Amino acid sequence: MKKIQMVDLKGQYAGIKDAVNSSIQEVIENTAFVNGPEVHKFQKSLEDYLGVKHVIPCANGTDALQIAMMGLGLEQGDEVITADFTFAATVEVIALLKLTPVLVDVNEDNFNINIEAIKKAITPKTKAIVPVHLFGQCANMEAIMELAKEHNLFVIEDNAQAIGADYKYSNGKKVKAGTIGNVGATSFFPSKNLGCYGDGGAIFTNDDDLAHTIRGIVNHGMYERYHHDVVGVNSRLDSIQAAVLNAKLPHLDTYNKARQTAARKYNAAFKGMDSVITPKTVNECDGICDTCDCHVFHQYTLRVKGVDRDALVKHLNENNIPCGVYYPIPLHKQKAYLDERYVESHFEVTNQLVKDVISLPMHTELDDEQIELITTTIIKFING
Ligand SMILES: *Cc1c(COP(=O)(O)O)cnc(C)c1O
Repeated sequence: MKKIQMVDLKGQYAGIKDAVNSSIQEVIENTAFVNGPEVHKFQKSLEDYLGVKHVIPCANGTDALQIAMMGLGLEQGDEVITADFTFAATVEVIALLKLTPVLVDVNEDNFNINIEAIKKAITPKTKAIVPVHLFGQCANMEAIMELAKEHNLFVIEDNAQAIGADYKYSNGKKVKAGTIGNVGATSFFPSKNLGCYGDGGAIFTNDDDLAHTIRGIVNHGMYERYHHDVVGVNSRLDSIQAAVLNAKLPHLDTYNKARQTAARKYNAAFKGMDSVITPKTVNECDGICDTCDCHVFHQYTLRVKGVDRDALVKHLNENNIPCGVYYPIPLHKQKAYLDERYVESHFEVTNQLVKDVISLPMHTELDDEQIELITTTIIKFING
């Protein structure tokens, strides 16, 4: 059996080697290492794929979030609501821009930001909501957009973990994750669902004016050469990374389907176990039917009940099965983001999730034999 990995980028590369190599080689030949034709090509292809008017490539997902917030003109003291249970990048850029992060609790079944918690956190100073589409599935965007409209707030979607996912409205209409709010931000970090071979990111929007503003911000606040109208940053997707993404984007749907197939097999193996709760998907079809991609399983995350999670992690590692705990500490308890406004009882779900969650290997190359070994090892450990 092939060694089990959390993410198997080498195995994936083997299937697209010629396309990736020739795409990278082209950049080396044309030497347009920055802002080359590959970057423009990728931007257009991603706009078409997502069905969004503007994609602005940038250097990484953290920059994408920061630039989105700069583009919206958020100012010191503005409150920005986001989830307590996410990767730190989301809250980091809020704090970095001297905005006021307001962390709120999430849903225990799908790990996404809780709508009632958002409602309770809205004050006259609230200016934006940043839903994170955690582990590959959209937050409740319909409810979030309604709240935003009612309170005149911006919505910035952190789509680093859900590229390619569909969001399905209650009337059945489907749109791509990241294209619903005022602006979406994503990451092409190698392990993400669409990863390059280094750092990369992008910002999406359907708003022409905002797209114009953001294109200047990513380029030192320049709208005309050597005229700096606003304070900007230098954040570029380099041409070699764009070349890799050009070779991989045509496979994104197939890759996401492979993740869904692995998720379905995991679900089947744990079916009926009281102590293992498989990830809940919002749609009846489990988001893994042939007609929708409502969950693209960036992570496959279980909750265990009445099981010593940390002992399970140790047992898996001893058996050469990698696994992860995303995330082990709520953001509101991280030293950098401590704030006396936070009340422990408001974070009941996140405080519990950090003790219960365990993410299993999830990538495009998992085979049946590997899934069988992973699931039987877990089941044997739990059943003793
Ligand atoms: C990966 C990630 C980011 C940051 O992306 P980088 O490209 O690593 O900067 C932001 N938010 C979430 C939820 C992520 O998973």
